[in-house]
Amino acid sequence: MKIVCIGRNYTAHIEELENEKPEDPVVFIKPDTSVLLKKQPFFIPDFSEDVHHEVEILIKINRVGKHIDRKFAHKYYDQIGLGIDFTARDLQHKLKEKGLPWEKAKSFDGATVIGDWVDKKQFLDVNDINFTLEKNGEIVQKGNTKFMLWKIDELIEYVSKYFTLKIGDVIFTGTPAGVGAVKAEDVLIGFIDKKQLFSIRIK
Ligand code: ZN
Repeated sequence: MKIVCIGRNYTAHIEELENEKPEDPVVFIKPDTSVLLKKQPFFIPDFSEDVHHEVEILIKINRVGKHIDRKFAHKYYDQIGLGIDFTARDLQHKLKEKGLPWEKAKSFDGATVIGDWVDKKQFLDVNDINFTLEKNGEIVQKGNTKFMLWKIDELIEYVSKYFTLKIGDVIFTGTPAGVGAVKAEDVLIGFIDKKQLFSIRIK
C-alpha cells in the first residue's frame, strides 16, 4: 500500500508558507512504514524541533487503475477519511532550500495518521465536505473540500498518469490553512462535520 500526498492544494495554506501557486499539483509519496499504528501516540522525532500537523481529507482507492479519466474517477473510491500528514517543517525547509527531496521531513515512521473511514454515500457532495482539527480542545485547522485547487476526481486523474493506483492506496488531498507545531502532551482530534475520526496524543 502506498500513500500519495498532494501539496499546496488550498490557496490560504500556500500563502501562509509563502509558496508559489503551482501549475500542476505537487505530488509526493509516503511509504506504509510511515503510518502511525492505531491507538499509538505520536512521538516527536529527535531530528526536528518543529513538527507541524497538516490535517487532510483522505481517499481510499478500491480498484486498480492507471490513466483514470476524471469522468470515471468516482468509481475508484467509496470511502473518505481524515488524517494528518505530520511534517518536520525545519528539516523540510532545509531540504527545499537545497532542492532535495522531502522524504526525511514527511515520510519518517509515524508521520502518517489515517483515521476511521466514512462511506462516500454519507455525503451529498464530496466537493463540499467540512473538516476540522482541534488541538487541546481548540479548532486550529478548518477546511472544506470545495476550496481545493484540484478536486478529488481531478487528483485521481492526475496522480494515475504517473502511478498505478492499487486497492488500499490512500490519497492525502492537501491541507488547508492553520498548520502549526505540536508539543508533548498535545491532543489532536480530527472531525468531518461533527463526527470524530481520530484522536492522537503527542509525546
Ligand atoms: Zn500535506
